[in-house]
Amino acid sequence: MKDLIISDLHLYQGQQSVPELFSYFMDQIAPNSDNLYVLGDLFEYWVGDDFQNEFQQSIIDRFCNYSKQHGLFFLHGNRDFLLGDDFFQKTKGTLLTDPCQRIVGDKKTLLMHGDSLCTKDIEYQKFRSMVRSELWQQQFLQQPLATRIELAKNLRDSSMKSQSQMTEEIMDVDPESVEKVMINEQVDRLIHGHTHRQFHHYINVKGNDAERIVLGDWGAKGNYCLCENKSVNIIDFQLPSDYIYP
Ligand code: MN
Repeated sequence: MKDLIISDLHLYQGQQSVPELFSYFMDQIAPNSDNLYVLGDLFEYWVGDDFQNEFQQSIIDRFCNYSKQHGLFFLHGNRDFLLGDDFFQKTKGTLLTDPCQRIVGDKKTLLMHGDSLCTKDIEYQKFRSMVRSELWQQQFLQQPLATRIELAKNLRDSSMKSQSQMTEEIMDVDPESVEKVMINEQVDRLIHGHTHRQFHHYINVKGNDAERIVLGDWGAKGNYCLCENKSVNIIDFQLPSDYIYP
């Protein structure tokens, strides 16, 4: 099996480089894989499946094209946790629970977005359980679209502001939470995004060798995990100068 994993593209209309990188990735890199996993924060924000324009449609079309012949899986991120049934039906992708155990490449792997591991950030964890509740989401989705977009932008701005006052340690995953989930799930490989701290960590979990692979966000460059047989590598890529964005 050859599986690819991406995370944290934070796509939005008018964004520099990333829509082109995504288009290139889906056209040239992804077709040569068996499965594609998107570990959340695909979009900068998502305020409901009725929030759709040409830009989002073009993203959906790419996924839909891929899923005709390959497996396509998504996790929610903290920005796009309102991606709903309509989106998954249109892309023909499957929403996975977070955390989710899968055979990726040929190895049992735990997939997460990563925000639930940032347990030192107590305010965020409170906020997370609020917005992930059914009741909050129902009430939010009843608001007019313009109100929801406004609310999403406010939430994003206030989260950026509070993050700028936090230490690096609080914003990163908590090593104890990582260990706990890996022991609970009996895995020695965890792949996640969210922190944007792209790195392949070799760690020790209860005396056993284990690894934690963190995907980076996309900007001038993109990155993905290539999982083949039992190995995993993070690969950076750039847009070839002769690539024409359709
Ligand atoms: Mn995130």
